[in-house]
Amino acid sequence: MARYRGPVCRLCRREGMKLFLKGERCYKEKCAIERRNAPPGQHGQGRRRKVRAYGLQLREKQKLRRIYGVLENQFRRTFDGANRKRGVTGENLLSFLELRLDNVVYSLGFATSRTQARQLVRHGHIVVDGRRVDIPSFRVKPAMEIAVAEKSRKVPTINDALEFAQGRGIPPWLELDGAAMAGKVLELPSREDIRYPIQEQLIVELYSR
Ligand code: SF4
Repeated sequence: MARYRGPVCRLCRREGMKLFLKGERCYKEKCAIERRNAPPGQHGQGRRRKVRAYGLQLREKQKLRRIYGVLENQFRRTFDGANRKRGVTGENLLSFLELRLDNVVYSLGFATSRTQARQLVRHGHIVVDGRRVDIPSFRVKPAMEIAVAEKSRKVPTINDALEFAQGRGIPPWLELDGAAMAGKVLELPSREDIRYPIQEQLIVELYSR
């Protein structure tokens, strides 16, 4: 399945919640959800449909997939990995998604959105433990250091993002040294560290059908 290239605010309106797909705009009053939280389309406002269990499970999966910008097949593979790991499958899934390199780059504030973070990784602006990694789905591990590559420290987009991120805060499982443009994974993220209102159990039920 190809990556979605349409207006991203439409996806938030479809899910009825902020998915933070557009960078700085998501934190301002201009956000489409702040202005008009209704499903997209001509009849979005008045549409009321009875949602069945399958529909709820599907929506929850789509929400999570869109937040992290992961394609269907990749999401399924991540789920299968989470299912094979010991522990609670839903929590493993959330943890795997949080540990993606593009998400960590966004969470540390080197980018204003996960899309921008993905681009930074792909273009070789990010190093992990001193080595360039250009795979957005690369899974980071505790004690790894994620930094902006030496040659990229003056890139205006990264500097602007870092400045903007100061008010956003970083998750407790990460540590940031803003001056060095480097961050560290302190531990694996726990369920409480993931702030999105996701009912991961519904996704597990969907894939267990
Ligand atoms: Fe979603 Fe951001 Fe658009 Fe708001 S501005 S609707 S959070 S993508």
